[in-house]
Amino acid sequence: VTSRFGKRLFTIFFKTYSEKLWGISCTDLDSDFAAQRIKKLSLFEAVKNALFQSKGNKHATLVDQFAYPFGGTGSVYENMQQLISARGGRVYLNTGVERVNTHLGTARSLTLENGETREYDHIVSTMPISILLERLPEVPAVIVEQAKKLTFRNTILVYLRVDRPDLFTDQWLYVHDPSVEVGRVTNFRNWLPSVYGDSSSSILCLEYWCNFDDPLWSQEDDHLIETASNEIVRTGLVEEGEVKAGHVVRLPRCYTVYFKGYREVMKPVESYLNTVEGLHAIGRYGSYKYNNQDHSILMGLRVAENILDGTQHDLWAINTDYEVYQESSVITKTGLQPKDT
Ligand SMILES: Cc1cc2nc3c(=O)[nH]c(=O)nc-3n(C[C@H](O)[C@H](O)[C@H](O)COP(=O)(O)OP(=O)(O)OC[C@H]3O[C@@H](n4cnc5c(N)ncnc54)[C@H](O)[C@@H]3O)c2cc1C
Repeated sequence: VTSRFGKRLFTIFFKTYSEKLWGISCTDLDSDFAAQRIKKLSLFEAVKNALFQSKGNKHATLVDQFAYPFGGTGSVYENMQQLISARGGRVYLNTGVERVNTHLGTARSLTLENGETREYDHIVSTMPISILLERLPEVPAVIVEQAKKLTFRNTILVYLRVDRPDLFTDQWLYVHDPSVEVGRVTNFRNWLPSVYGDSSSSILCLEYWCNFDDPLWSQEDDHLIETASNEIVRTGLVEEGEVKAGHVVRLPRCYTVYFKGYREVMKPVESYLNTVEGLHAIGRYGSYKYNNQDHSILMGLRVAENILDGTQHDLWAINTDYEVYQESSVITKTGLQPKDT
């Protein structure tokens, strides 16, 4: 990043934000993170965009339009569930998996947290990979030890109801300022204004990243809401007294940390899991990839092809080819369309 943008821009726009997010120094981060997030953006392109706001054919990092479902992101998954049900499948929610059972090296059944055991032809796991390895029988100690090195970062989402409709025009803002702990602010009013009806309030979400042993993770909700309310006023985005209510959601293990050397740690883990027939580890936490939803959905599609059609997609390779997947659609007046139609 420094060689492409210079030390000053790196310090202002990359260092503090990245260190808030990952909780480690940028010098300990693998370059994969930067490669994925800024792709081949050059300083020239960034400056040109800032000065001329050029439209069309721009770098993915600089796009000023994105598609979002009217019913929110959840509607995509609700539709999936309806399709599965319509075809006779079943979706079990709140059904924790305690053990993945194998027989002669093949994954055969799941023991659920309620003690029940169910048999399956194939098991596709999206639980955090280190937990999967703890819940499989007879995993060599060396693999379990490797998996323990894989670290996940937690997020605390602090939602604030603010008594004003026009706070700022962006959907989200990254907060680089090291004097506040908040790392990102999302303004949901700018995603789906229609859901607000006649209300003149805005819902903001302030993201705080931490580890399990950080004091922040175990702070009381009221304290977190107070901190977030004070910080949002300090950013200048909200006036004193405008925050009317707050709500806290804690997300454990929701960022896979690309620490330097993580690929070497993953290699034996991937090789071992490849030896367990009928078991497929995919997803952001399941395969230890800094996925967006599109990558995880793609992994789901590819694993289904491997199982049903006998294809040999290398699922571990998905999301390492950063260029291909995200830009395969275009936004049109009537919705999202594949690029080649
Ligand atoms: C704060 C935040 C903001 C984000 N913003 C965006 C965004 O704007 N756009 C975008 O595309 N992506 C975004 N992402 C990333 C997106 O959420 C993930 O890429 C996506 O959810 C990954 O899907 P997945 O199926 O791999 O994992 P998940 O959605 O986490 O699904 C894994 C599932 O496995 C379940 N599970 C775990 N352990 C067990 C067990 N033992 N038994 C049974 N079930 C278990 C979990 O409960 C979970 O439901 C964001 C993520 C975060 C944390």
